[in-house]
Amino acid sequence: MSVPFTRTLRFKVRPESHAWLNAAAIEVNGVFNYCNQISVATATRTDRKRKWLSGYDLCTLTAGATEYFQRIGSATVQRICVEYAQKRVAARRVKLRWRVSRGARRNLGWIPFKAASLKRKGTALRFCGKTFRVFERDRLEGVSWKQGCFAQDAVGDWWLCLPVEVRVEQTAAPKESVGVDLGIKDAAVTSDGERLEAILFFRDAQHRIAALQRRGHVRQGKREHRRIRRRRHDVCHQFSRKLINTYQKVVVGDVSSPKLAKTRMAKSVMDSGWGLLKRFLQYKGECAGRTVQIVNERNTSRSCSSCGALTGPSGLRQLAVRHWECAHCGEWHDRDVNAARNILRAGSRCGTSVSGNELSPTECPPSQTSRLSEAGSDTRRAAA
Ligand SMILES: [Zn+2]
Repeated sequence: MSVPFTRTLRFKVRPESHAWLNAAAIEVNGVFNYCNQISVATATRTDRKRKWLSGYDLCTLTAGATEYFQRIGSATVQRICVEYAQKRVAARRVKLRWRVSRGARRNLGWIPFKAASLKRKGTALRFCGKTFRVFERDRLEGVSWKQGCFAQDAVGDWWLCLPVEVRVEQTAAPKESVGVDLGIKDAAVTSDGERLEAILFFRDAQHRIAALQRRGHVRQGKREHRRIRRRRHDVCHQFSRKLINTYQKVVVGDVSSPKLAKTRMAKSVMDSGWGLLKRFLQYKGECAGRTVQIVNERNTSRSCSSCGALTGPSGLRQLAVRHWECAHCGEWHDRDVNAARNILRAGSRCGTSVSGNELSPTECPPSQTSRLSEAGSDTRRAAA
């Protein structure tokens, strides 16, 4: 069975166009800030003309604005208006942040466009009267896009982002289900005993980055950050792909990285890629027709996966315990594999009704424990 699925293709833009794009991004910011200003002014009027402007209203108000711009066209202006209105609704605010064009707090460049504005021209692309060349252009062959954008990354390079619809084949996986325990000692351990080694790339590189920053090599430091990010993505992509290809159902614990990021092991948590792994599993699972389930992982490292007794290591003092023997049934456990098995069991317990890829399944009540003790039960992840 094949189903349609939207993927975003990214192409690196050749550096000769960067100057043009930088200048165009400033014009985009101008339109965006105009939308911001006019929306606030209209929404806070005290007379009867007060109004919450929609994207359509903003398009009407900006009609003819291209006359004042040298680079961007009306299609881009309209896209900015619509995006602005959407963002404002999503943020539930009267006013959004201004887009800053210069200085240290500069926003990264962003230039949206409609399908018709970007055309092929031989081996290159044509946008707003300017010819663009991208790297790996053979990937563009046979691709049709609806709308997209040019986006800048922290290093200053520009990327062409094109959401395209692809058809993917859905087939059944060879194995039934697996539980995944996320941690820091090992980034992830499955209930079948497979491990993804810790991916603390930032920890290895932070001294190098600090040295670069001290010497004033800001751009080089940013490149280094980007390299780490890519390595982390690569590892997470490979591991999630392997799981999705092998198993029909993947159950993951609900460790929340934003919550733990406020504690003292924040750096390890941010570096471990849990959020990334979960996100990849979810979208890949959806694409391949698998079930990805997120369950409450309370007590999963404490209870014995054979008999269910709470005989395992718990609390701060027993963080270092990697193997233990169940006092009740005498089973010898590896800490992480045992936790993964418990997560798998938790998944099948409340699993029959949950088959989507929801972030927080309502069928499993959230942990009753307070925030403090929750953080305590997760402290074992800082064991590394
Ligand atoms: Zn036991």
